Parts: sequence; C-alpha cells; structure tokens
Amino acid sequence: MNITVVSGKGGVGKSTLSASLVHMLTERFGKDNIVSVDCDVDAADLHIFLGQGATVLEEYEAESSEKAFVDYDRCTSCGRCDVCRFNALRLVNGQPVIDRYACEGCGACTVLCPTDAIQIKPVKNAVIRVLDTEYGILVTGQLRIGESGSGKIVTLLKDKVNQMISDGRIRPRYVIRDGAPGISCPVIASVNGSDYVIVVTEPTPSGLVDMERVLEIVEQFGIPYGIVINKHDANPVLTERIQNEYRGIVLTKIPYDRKVVEAAVNRTPLTLLHPEFKGYIRPVIEKITSLR
Ligand code: SF4
Ligand code: SF4
Repeated sequence: MNITVVSGKGGVGKSTLSASLVHMLTERFGKDNIVSVDCDVDAADLHIFLGQGATVLEEYEAESSEKAFVDYDRCTSCGRCDVCRFNALRLVNGQPVIDRYACEGCGACTVLCPTDAIQIKPVKNAVIRVLDTEYGILVTGQLRIGESGSGKIVTLLKDKVNQMISDGRIRPRYVIRDGAPGISCPVIASVNGSDYVIVVTEPTPSGLVDMERVLEIVEQFGIPYGIVINKHDANPVLTERIQNEYRGIVLTKIPYDRKVVEAAVNRTPLTLLHPEFKGYIRPVIEKITSLR
C-alpha cells in the first residue's frame, strides 16, 4: 500500500511526520514490511532522520532531462541557431555557447542548424540511492544543483521500488513516500498512484491557502486523504476552523515543541527520541493500518 505525505509548502513538518510514521510502522510490523521513498528530490532530507548507520545497497546517476550540446568540428559559424528563447545560447565568434543551466532542451536551435552541429542529449541530473536502514529500505534521489526534471526523477524512484518488488527483493506491506512540498511536478508525481495521502499543514493563513491548493491536486486524482495539523497551538482559532471545515478528515493535531527540532539535530525520528509524541501520531498509524 502506497501512502504519500505532502504539504502545500515547506517547513511544516512533512519529513518529521514521515520519519515518525516509518519508525512507528517499523516497530509494529518489522523493517522488512516498510519501505520509504524520499520524493522531495529538490531538498531530500528523509535520510537525515532514517539513514544513520545505513548501508548503501545501490548508488547510480539518473537521467531525466535533456540539453543541447555543440559539436564544434561541424559548426560553420553561420549563426542560424541564435534563436533561443531561454537565453541559453549566445554566439561567441559566430559559434554557439550553451549555458547548460538555462537550456531547456527544447531543440529549436537544432532544427535550424544546417550541419547537425547541435544535438540534444540526455544529462545525468540526479543521484539515486538505495539504503538499508534500521527502518527498512529507503530509496532516495537528489537532484543535482541547477538541474531540472525533478518530477521525472520521482517517477524513477517509484519505478525503482516497483522493480525491487517485482524482482522479489522486497515485499513491503507499506511504502511511505515523503512527497515534495508545493503543487508542482514532483508533488503530482509523488501523489500519482497513491492509495492514501496525508496532507500536513500548519494553522496560518498561508498554510491554509497552500493546503487548499495541494488538496485540489489530491482530489483531482480521486485519492482519499487525511489532514494533520502541525503546530496547532500556534493559532487555536484557525486550528478550530480547519477542524470544523474538514471534520472527519483531520486525523490529528501536533503541538509546537522544541523537541521536534532536537529530533532533526539528532538525526533521529521524533517518535524514537521523544516517545511521548507517539500519542499524537498514533491516529495516523491507525488510519493507515485500517486501509484496505
Ligand atoms: S535546446 Fe532550446 S533551450 Fe537549449 S539552447 Fe537550444 S534553443 Fe535554447
Ligand atoms: S547553426 Fe549550426 S553551423 Fe550554424 S552557428 Fe549554429 S551550430 Fe554552427
């Protein structure tokens, strides 16, 4: 069963919750039954909570975007390729120089080149790792700085898990995906194919707006979801409003506490370092384990 944790924006406690869910599910079902996937490939951090002492089982570079490359031996300096709308190509002494960070791989420059001197090629834009952790297998991907294609990298991570399952290497009861924040491609890729989505929010006006935006995506997919209100005591009025508006959908609320920061500093799941937090997270576990 695929469970995805998302949030409308970063910094609301999504990875803290994901790590705690993985920890508590591992305690209940054993590490062989749990796989976690860090789908926040722009800022992967689940390994910080779960990866201490882990063994790297696999590490490889992934290709999910393409860029233009120039073969200067074929270039006649005709200048026809100077059409880039992304300002990724400039002519120097009549020959094109590509800014690899700005190039979107659209191919417009290649179409106009009479000598096939520019070609679109895949680029290695991320590193994927499979870790054997205390809390089961963790599949994580990290986009290289300045690269694009994060949504496709998330798909590669999900494909990796599915491949390992079909090869018989793993047989997880639960796959916990720590999704990306926001509403862009990696979020959509994280949510797609989920059996249940947990949306983490905080009771602030921006938190509420961002949550509503991410809920639109989840509802588009028709996937059932629950809401977790983090730092609920920061704004009791707004917390009550969310609870009333999403009655029956709010799974739990978690108070603000410096111990949450301690867990990140100690690179440990919150529920392991401070077991008193299990009570707040248990309703989410009960929901997950009741899904059929
Ligand atoms: S492939 Fe597209 S984005 Fe890249 S340099 Fe050529 S025209 Fe610009
Ligand atoms: S269009 Fe082709 S041959 Fe002309 S300058 Fe560009 S790369 Fe060189």
